[in-house]
Amino acid sequence: MEMKIKCPNCGMESYNPNDIENKYCGNCHAFLEDIQIGFLNEFSYLMGQVMGTLSKPEVRKAMIDRKGVTDTQIEKFEAAAKSLINTVCYE
Ligand SMILES: [Zn+2]
Repeated sequence: MEMKIKCPNCGMESYNPNDIENKYCGNCHAFLEDIQIGFLNEFSYLMGQVMGTLSKPEVRKAMIDRKGVTDTQIEKFEAAAKSLINTVCYE
């Protein structure tokens, strides 16, 4: 079986042994690890935005009133999001 790598950013596959060894995407001119870290940072930023929005009482109230979400569900979501952000940032 031939070795290949696939870039998570552009989806390009490479059979080039140098690319495989260095885990490099010639199309993005970036190392796959850096691309993944970029994704994680973006993800953690977005989760932070969501958390910030949720902490506003008017947003929380609107979710509960209009979407039928309960306070407990929001708290569970916040706890899950917090632990995800911590995982992304500190591991
Ligand atoms: Zn790429």
